[in-house]
Amino acid sequence: MAPPQTNPRHAEHRAFMVERHLRARGIRDPLVIAAMGEVPREAFVSGELEEFAYEDSALPIEAGQTISQPYIVARMAELATLEPTDKVLEVGAGSGFAAAVFGRIAAQVYAIERHEELANLARSRIARLGYDNVEIICGDGTKGFAEEEPFDAIIVSAGGPRVPEALKRQLAPGGRLVLPVGTGRMQELIRVTRNEDDTFEEESFGGVAFVPLIGEEGWPDQNADDATEMDSQPGPLAAPIQARRTLEKRGPSQLMSEAAEPFAELDELARMVDRFADRRIVMLGEATHGTSEFYQARAAITERLVRQHGFNIVAVEADWPDAAVYNAVIQGLPRPRLPERPFSRFPTWMWRNAEVEALLKRLAAVNAEIRGPERRCGFYGLDIYSLATSIGAVLDYLDRVDPEAGRIARERYSCLAPWRAEPARYGRMAISRGYEACERAVGQALQDLLAKRLDYLHDDGEAFFSAAQNAHIVAGAEEYYRTIYYGGALSWNLRDQHMFDTLERLLEHRGPGSKAVVWAHNSHIGDARATEMGQVRGEHNIGQLARQRFGDQVGLIGFGTDRGTVAAASDWDAPMEVKRVRAARDDSFEGVSRATDIAAFLLETGPGQREEIRTALAEPLLERAIGVIYRPESERLSHYFEAELSNQFDAWIWFAETQAVTARPHAEHGPEETYPFGL
Ligand code: SAM
Repeated sequence: MAPPQTNPRHAEHRAFMVERHLRARGIRDPLVIAAMGEVPREAFVSGELEEFAYEDSALPIEAGQTISQPYIVARMAELATLEPTDKVLEVGAGSGFAAAVFGRIAAQVYAIERHEELANLARSRIARLGYDNVEIICGDGTKGFAEEEPFDAIIVSAGGPRVPEALKRQLAPGGRLVLPVGTGRMQELIRVTRNEDDTFEEESFGGVAFVPLIGEEGWPDQNADDATEMDSQPGPLAAPIQARRTLEKRGPSQLMSEAAEPFAELDELARMVDRFADRRIVMLGEATHGTSEFYQARAAITERLVRQHGFNIVAVEADWPDAAVYNAVIQGLPRPRLPERPFSRFPTWMWRNAEVEALLKRLAAVNAEIRGPERRCGFYGLDIYSLATSIGAVLDYLDRVDPEAGRIARERYSCLAPWRAEPARYGRMAISRGYEACERAVGQALQDLLAKRLDYLHDDGEAFFSAAQNAHIVAGAEEYYRTIYYGGALSWNLRDQHMFDTLERLLEHRGPGSKAVVWAHNSHIGDARATEMGQVRGEHNIGQLARQRFGDQVGLIGFGTDRGTVAAASDWDAPMEVKRVRAARDDSFEGVSRATDIAAFLLETGPGQREEIRTALAEPLLERAIGVIYRPESERLSHYFEAELSNQFDAWIWFAETQAVTARPHAEHGPEETYPFGL
């Protein structure tokens, strides 16, 4: 039979997976790398999960089981030191994926699966791919496969309480048995080698978490098999679901409710946050990009920090030129000429909504009471996406203060002109031709501007700072769009580094007494080192960078919710919808927070909290992140990640039920030109 047609994008994702999830984590065996680069993982999952085939996680398969995380398959193959002449046994064939990988390296593979449904499916997938050295057998693999012993390598893809004797016996002299063994929450990855003199040697390779190995020499079959929750995956942070239940019984939610500080009014919440008011930076997160309560709570906290505690920077996850229009509103300054329509780029509802309008009014009122411009609070955008507007703003500035420099900068930026409207196309072109001309030109434009700093500062310090920031954005965005095609972590890290650099420039610009409130998604402000982002994907974020630079001068506050509605789109650039938020999973920090039965609370999770509580909340659990896109139908895969709450944040603010923000769509005519002035 002809091999199935596969989507060419899968090949790209597979190559990325090999680089980022395998090589970057230390998988070196060239045979393993080649095999992982060859076997189409998408052919081993059901159709609707194909788009997730190269995610760095286990995925659900039929019979309530899982296909292992690619890294763990590669790691086990490497530990088993598979050779091209080897005869291999796998116990726990599942989807057949790992067996297919082993078959690309070894001469012959036998893979046993206890579920008949899975064994049949795996067999037909392997046949479709034409891998004729892999045989799938249905049975109890803890007894091995006596018909074909001895084996050069045996790999067990499920976790048992001990090393099955039958498997040891079926190893050839020099044979390697790799398997997870353990009776607790995690198992130990073990390699047993049968020496030529018939002695056995055992080595250990750290913690893993697998679904249970069920059979004569494994766990008894008494519904221990309910791996219906697909997070019982192997992986550095994952725990089997049974262990998670034990964790819940031990009571993180009781501990949480003991320590939680309930509030009824947002002003009460704002007063509770006073404990962080002596920090230089307070970061306020959000678990979605469209929840009214998160905006309102952050507005109340921010107003108090500005009014009572001298915070003079409000820096948000938004574009700089657009935020500059809002800055003019709250500081009573003339409106910048560009952009004509602030926040008209997707996702417009994030900064064009009734809640943000209310924030601007509150900050304008506070500023009106403050004497001395240095204490007045400014509103600034940290993001990197405003390529076209930032080019326009730099040129606008130079045309005013130094037309000759404006002419030169125009020439330098002309390199990017064809891609201003769609900078992602620039990235595609840049990698396909090894193009680098724009990189030098935009870097030079920034250098030119900074070199004339002293001349220009005489004119207007604020205007110069803003123009320089726009030149930084053009340089940063050029690099960002060039790297998005190399995959997630690289461009994510560039973006968060840019946001952090911008924050540092702002703090410096506003002087030694400056203090900043930052508004960004939890995934940006919660320390990435305490989540899957940092531990598995190699991503850092602005919260982590700030902690590393400013230590305990930073307060990181995360926000969470269980249910209600949210403003989000189904796809990038698709219209905003008000979507229903699914009740959170039990095995998530949201589930634990819901179980406290407190409608709204603040919980300190940082060093100020009791050690017992911090320890309980440092146990990894899932956490939900809803962005501008929300796909409830694939929620577990699209929106949950593993985190250690008390290491991630210094405090956690909880609203059990929340509602979508009230978006302010663009008016085609009329007050649009003056928005949001005159509100
Ligand atoms: N290697 C698989 C893949 O690539 O899709 C994933 C394996 S999954 C994590 C573990 C599998 O082991 C499940 O399909 C489960 O049914 C199977 N299993 C558990 N105990 C078994 C046993 N005693 N014999 C054979 N299979 C078993």
